[in-house]
Amino acid sequence: MARTKTVQSPHTIWRRYETEFSMAHIIKGHPRCGRVHGHNYRLLVSVKGDSNRFVDFYTVKEAIEKVISRDYDHRFVGHKTCEELAQEFHEKLTATFKAEVGIDLWETSKFSVRYPA
Ligand SMILES: [Zn+2]
Repeated sequence: MARTKTVQSPHTIWRRYETEFSMAHIIKGHPRCGRVHGHNYRLLVSVKGDSNRFVDFYTVKEAIEKVISRDYDHRFVGHKTCEELAQEFHEKLTATFKAEVGIDLWETSKFSVRYPA
């Protein structure tokens, strides 16, 4: 049977990009994290879009890497927790993409936060 390509009605999809970078912070009053220390973070950004609209993955990558390299990679981010950083990434990248954005941020290989829930 011959395959025919049918025109799909548009669906909502998530375009995703994952990257890694390093940051240092300090969590005041915490017995272990009260010292300045760093993590190798893993960030997964999901951008909600329309399946019928072409979006070059490269432009998604570039927009995310620009924010990370400019404001976060190899920087000291003060007293910000993983939860606060995820919300900050959400705010900045929502403004960048003018679309619904989901953030998954791993502080270690085992612990991560997802924002929004
Ligand atoms: Zn930490």
